[in-house]
Amino acid sequence: MGLMEKNSRNIDNRYWNPGIKAFPVKNVYTAGVAGQRFFEELKENGKIYGSKCDRCSLTYVPARLYCEKCFNHLEEEKWLDVGTEGEIYSYTFLYRAKNGEPKEEPSIMAAIRIAGGLLIHRLGECSPENLKIGLLVKAELKPKDQRKGSIEDISYFKPL
Ligand SMILES: [Zn+2]
Repeated sequence: MGLMEKNSRNIDNRYWNPGIKAFPVKNVYTAGVAGQRFFEELKENGKIYGSKCDRCSLTYVPARLYCEKCFNHLEEEKWLDVGTEGEIYSYTFLYRAKNGEPKEEPSIMAAIRIAGGLLIHRLGECSPENLKIGLLVKAELKPKDQRKGSIEDISYFKPL
């Protein structure tokens, strides 16, 4: 059921049966106009795009169509190639896998500041001892023929 759909019969308000192994998704998710272009640029050209608001100078990474502060329209013609380098703004260690099982080696997730915006992603080729806020990192992209137009087209960020 989509957000705009409305049930008219209470029998339609069912719960998900946890005995079913797959969650029943009936709708297609889209990344929206801005997200679509952001992921296409990442897939086709290996570029990370941001958008900057002329009024309040905020930069968004990934690029957006509207400024969340002043609602200014951020025209696509003005989007910026912000490069693939940034610095660690924050990070955390993951000790459990998605299924809840303990991981042999913890993985590291980081908020990476790129041109004033923030992107959340994995870190790789990085030892925990050398990790620090402000560390410069660069996106390690998958080979073009393996990219699918998602954030997973970036394998991880690694120290410069
Ligand atoms: Zn603005």
